[in-house]
Amino acid sequence: MINFTVGPVQSSDSVRMVGAEQVPYFRTPEFSEVMFENERLIKKFAHADENSKVVFITGSGTASMEATIINTLTKEDKVLVVNGGSFGHRFVELCRLHEIPYTEISLDYGQALSKEHIDAFDGKDYTGFVVNLNETSTGVLYDINMISDFCKKNNLFLIVDAISAFLADPINMSASKIDVMITGSQKALACPPGVSVIVLSENAVNRVKNNDAKCMYLDLKNALKNAERGQTPFTPAVGILLQINVRLKEIEKSGGVEAETAKIADIAEDFRKRISDLPFEICSDSLSNAVTPIHPTTASAYDIFTILKDEYGIWICPNGGELAEKIFRVGHIGCLTKEDNDKLIEAFYDLKKRNII
Ligand SMILES: *Cc1c(COP(=O)(O)O)cnc(C)c1O
Repeated sequence: MINFTVGPVQSSDSVRMVGAEQVPYFRTPEFSEVMFENERLIKKFAHADENSKVVFITGSGTASMEATIINTLTKEDKVLVVNGGSFGHRFVELCRLHEIPYTEISLDYGQALSKEHIDAFDGKDYTGFVVNLNETSTGVLYDINMISDFCKKNNLFLIVDAISAFLADPINMSASKIDVMITGSQKALACPPGVSVIVLSENAVNRVKNNDAKCMYLDLKNALKNAERGQTPFTPAVGILLQINVRLKEIEKSGGVEAETAKIADIAEDFRKRISDLPFEICSDSLSNAVTPIHPTTASAYDIFTILKDEYGIWICPNGGELAEKIFRVGHIGCLTKEDNDKLIEAFYDLKKRNII
């Protein structure tokens, strides 16, 4: 099987080997050291300020999205939420559920966020901005520099869901003055699902400390207090945190975050170059390195997904809902090579030969 979805994705052999080992007891100085190292490397790769803190949540990315909304925002806030697909919509739902005042910036499928969209809210009474850097459902990467300039000018608290963008697209928390960055274990981190990560700026840590969050499992005050000693309030997904440790050290050894991002960009570019003679349209105004959204012009997208899975042992990523027949996505994150691209391209050409596309 070759997995070109956007998560869970393929893991390296060293990460998989850790998965085969016994899971150790974790209230130990040894495990605390692993957690401190995880924090140090995540901060380094996110270009976070020295005073930033990292918490590891046992729960998929959505748990960290919810923890962020509950712990860093209050009813006194008024936030702008970019809604360009199902993950933007999830932030809208979270704000509604937790009664955080918000205004939605709704985008069409595949549409980039423009300066006109946000300038309409310049100089108003907003306090925060919430965005998915790469809206993975549509494969649109928003312009972080434009968003950052707007937030700096309007003094907005900036929450960035970089769950699929972290490691795949350039991100610099310090330069972009990002207050909260979220990522997850099963995207470009290329580990099993189950852990998500929240990086909090000093400003965000202060917001957490002054917020009376009404929840227990996702209480970030408690998580931050435990993180001081390299621990978590409750039993975390110990095995996955050990796999994350191996993976982060692997990235560090092979040139750091810049090298990893360049590798993913290279694989994405190689793939995109080689589909130009196929009956496919790339349907995003602004592509992330993590994923290519494709509209096949001669066949059902869902049929292509099914045939590749059942007859070729290749997994691409179907879209849900209304677009299931129209669009599929090809992910470029995880342990993939250009030789894997060869096999996928070959399969597409075979579908063409068989008149399926
Ligand atoms: C994958 C993803 C999520 C989180 O999804 P989970 O299934 O909860 O891990 C959120 N936002 C983005 C942009 C994602 O790519």
